[in-house]
Amino acid sequence: MALAQASHIQTFMNWLRELLTGDGRTLKIRGGLTLPRNKPGLPVDNNIVSLNVPEHIVIPLLDYHHKPVTPCVRTGQSVSTGDKLAPGIIASTGGTVLTIEDRPVIHPSSLLAPCVVIATRSEQINQQPVHCALDVPSIARIALCGVRGLGGAGFATATKLERSAPLGQPIDTLIINAVECEPGISCDESLLICEATSVVRAMIVMMELTACKRCVLAIENDKLLALAALKQAMQQLSTLSKNIDVQLLAPIYPSGAERPLIERVTHIRLQEGRRPVDQGVVCINVATALAASQAQEGYPLVSRIITVAGEQAVNAVNVRVLFGTPVRNVLEQTGNLQNIKLSRVRVGGPLSGFDLNNLDTPVTATTNCISIEAPLVTNSPDPCIRCDACSEVCPVDLLPQQLYWYAQQDDLDKSTHYGLNQCIECGCCDVVCPSRIPLTQTFRYARSALQEQTQAKQRATDAEQRYQLREQRLSAKAAASEAQRKMAKTTLTQGNDPIAAALARAKQRRNNPDSDNPA
Ligand code: SF4
Ligand code: SF4
Repeated sequence: MALAQASHIQTFMNWLRELLTGDGRTLKIRGGLTLPRNKPGLPVDNNIVSLNVPEHIVIPLLDYHHKPVTPCVRTGQSVSTGDKLAPGIIASTGGTVLTIEDRPVIHPSSLLAPCVVIATRSEQINQQPVHCALDVPSIARIALCGVRGLGGAGFATATKLERSAPLGQPIDTLIINAVECEPGISCDESLLICEATSVVRAMIVMMELTACKRCVLAIENDKLLALAALKQAMQQLSTLSKNIDVQLLAPIYPSGAERPLIERVTHIRLQEGRRPVDQGVVCINVATALAASQAQEGYPLVSRIITVAGEQAVNAVNVRVLFGTPVRNVLEQTGNLQNIKLSRVRVGGPLSGFDLNNLDTPVTATTNCISIEAPLVTNSPDPCIRCDACSEVCPVDLLPQQLYWYAQQDDLDKSTHYGLNQCIECGCCDVVCPSRIPLTQTFRYARSALQEQTQAKQRATDAEQRYQLREQRLSAKAAASEAQRKMAKTTLTQGNDPIAAALARAKQRRNNPDSDNPA
């Protein structure tokens, strides 16, 4: 037994050495920060604890762009796990719709949005498949099962894959992103440790779905437990997993951000405004890939693994949480609710996340971390000293000091020119700025202003188009009436007036009543 274990460790170490040294294979992103890696809540017993389902869950009726969508359920209606609540939104558990009303949702600006509130009827997360999903095509199954990106963005996975399906854009490389969003988050790492075999199977399914030639699993080189589990799973499925490569990355924050990661792994420079799929690459978070493959068997995506951590966390854990569970309930069930009034609760991690103003906001697909931090001591910022530290760490090669200058003046045109749309809001520039300038926060607000402006322009263009179409319809109708009037006039002029002819026939019948009778 001990001998077998020693040989297993030796095989893993050889494989790791090969990955680390072969062809200089550990990649490094541009810029970024090397931060202390404090890994909270990694499962030691290969088990991620599922939290109990709360009495009420709250499902926001918002699409990817945070636009409200129309519900297709009503108050009092009974719903089951996986039932459609609105386009692209499913019920994460069964119960009765209590109300549909505005509630706080997870958003940097404490947004209120319409939500479906469900009184639940089960205490456990339902892991049963939705059978009706099995008789529809593969990509549609992903949509029916409500699969969204679990890496942070929450983009609908079916939409992402539609363009890459065998009849769409040919895909050279499928990247499965197992690089954690932040050093303090370990939800993807714990997934790999606990479910490595399912993850390898999911990668094989995703390769078939995207009809791609090559699949690369990108992961940091210091996730040794996850790498060991992965190696074992790949050995078990060696015939099927032969087209899967493991790409190691130096543990530099934010290596997991999609664009820098794609550029490092594929050496393709992504063009602004184009999606990676247009350039033959699909990048999917590892947990999303697993959810998309489970959707093939009809399992809806109703929960996710969340890291509960932070410098003030009493109990740092990775837990599986049902979508719609209020953050307060997660903190309570994990034993982190005490002294919370003296702390700051952030969602999405200490760097890329944001402070939450209301603990009753519900967990969604994008909630990868709930971080409990010390209250912020705010010193007002000093003027920029043009030290350039921010541009040195920017992973997407921006000039944050210039961008800030225009963003704070609401000059959206100039901000766009300086790459506002390319900012991934990683927060690296904030960390290094000696003047404590709130760069990322300013960029975040400028981006939402830009989004609103773009949407307003789109609405104006749509309205203009509708007006033009209406004008065209009205003038076509007027032209048709005019043509008809002219034709009628011509008929009259030529003595072919049908009314006059009818009157003449009636007159004739009056004068000669027998004329109509052929007998
Ligand atoms: S927040 Fe934006 S500007 Fe700042 S380092 Fe990250 S990507 Fe660059
Ligand atoms: S790091 Fe701060 S002080 Fe230095 S150039 Fe950037 S914004 Fe200015």
